[in-house]
Amino acid sequence: MLPEVIFTTSVHGNPFLKVGEFTYSMFTPSRTSACLKKRWVCSKWRSGCRATLYTVDHHIISMRNEHMHTSRRN
Ligand SMILES: [Zn+2]
Repeated sequence: MLPEVIFTTSVHGNPFLKVGEFTYSMFTPSRTSACLKKRWVCSKWRSGCRATLYTVDHHIISMRNEHMHTSRRN
């Protein structure tokens, strides 16, 4: 069963997802931004975490929920 996902926006105006204790940033390959299928990457992507998920129309269609860190912020 997939966890609940919350779509929200950062103070900087960037869309992000909250899934449980984890947050994801939208990964936008510029030219495909009109596509309904969105790819999201863990907010710790730059730190090496490779958890990703895909949404279509605000529903998670697939996710790779393997984080290399704890869910606690920083
Ligand atoms: Zn992660």
